[in-house]
Amino acid sequence: GRVLVTGVNGYIGLWVARVLLERGYTVRGTVRSEAKAKHIRQLFKPFGEKFEMVIVPDITKVGAFDEAVKDMDAVEHTASPYHFKAGDPDELIVPALHGTTRVLESILAHGSSVKRVVVTSSVAAVLQVQSTPRVFTEEDWNDASVVEVREKGAGASQAGKYRASKTLAERAAWDFVEKNRGSIGWDLVVLNPPMVFGPAIHEVGAPEALNESMHNWFHSVFRGSQDPKQLGTLGMAWVDVRDLADAHALAIEQEEAGGNRIIIASGPYKWQDWINAARTVDASAPPGDQSYDPAKAVHMLMFDASKSVKLLGLKYRSIQETTSDIVGDFKARGWL
Ligand code: NDP
Repeated sequence: GRVLVTGVNGYIGLWVARVLLERGYTVRGTVRSEAKAKHIRQLFKPFGEKFEMVIVPDITKVGAFDEAVKDMDAVEHTASPYHFKAGDPDELIVPALHGTTRVLESILAHGSSVKRVVVTSSVAAVLQVQSTPRVFTEEDWNDASVVEVREKGAGASQAGKYRASKTLAERAAWDFVEKNRGSIGWDLVVLNPPMVFGPAIHEVGAPEALNESMHNWFHSVFRGSQDPKQLGTLGMAWVDVRDLADAHALAIEQEEAGGNRIIIASGPYKWQDWINAARTVDASAPPGDQSYDPAKAVHMLMFDASKSVKLLGLKYRSIQETTSDIVGDFKARGWL
């Protein structure tokens, strides 16, 4: 099959493309400029004509993906901003929301061969901040962040701005399917991962240039960027980037996945869990909070990932396994 991957130069997008190529797919990736294509061309040279790239300079423009979607059997839409530096919330919302809509519009107009569309959403579109432990499922929606951004605009929290962009983009995708039910020949799968960690294969010159989630990981685990007193209490849920990439492949392969929103999560963590794992493979990792007892950890945000196992047959890596591979990657880059 032929698969379009938007944002193929991103941390997740590039892993999605690599897993698809390894599974024998022909992949077309979109990037914003030729400069962003160079590294990938080199990386995927072994796949020869099975891989190609197209430049989509502005994903928010009407007709942006008209050429890109032609002759594709499936589309994986990963391109969307993920950072905590937005002033006006529209800096995130416009590319997230309109980017998603443009992809779907182009498929409707020019993607007659497309059978399945996968959108990379996030648990950002699922969760609500809690003061007591709670397990979220695919039934849950984070509309609170949309309200926050509407009320506070540029004064909303950075997390709120990002989460609103993901909620609005995902809702737009489901609304599009609903509205065009009679005229589309494809179905939608949405994947909702929490924090994504694991080795990086996209172009990264220095730790400072890492994508948001891995930047956070590197600085929290090896550079002491978190308050040591909070290493045993601060955390979230996570998934390995390679497991998430597998999920993207399985999402186009499993017929029954169609029409589903699927949480892709390995489990909860506290930062000290990563530090303890890192210290078993690299002595330079700072000790953090050695009084931390994982058995006593309380996780406010937990995610039920049973649907991913049932529908996709997904298997998840452990914190120890992922940490070993990240440390190996960082050592190879000379960062540790
Ligand atoms: P990256 O920053 O590594 O990649 C983001 C991708 O989106 C890049 O290809 C980037 O292209 C593209 N993009 C960003 N902003 C724009 C824009 N305004 N116009 C066009 N393209 C844009 O992040 P990730 O790989 O981590 O994120 C990929 C997806 O996964 C996103 O949808 C994100 O919300 C989601 N996600 C990520 C999680 C994580 O922990 N990493 C967790 C949950 C969901 P360019 O380089 O040109 O900016």
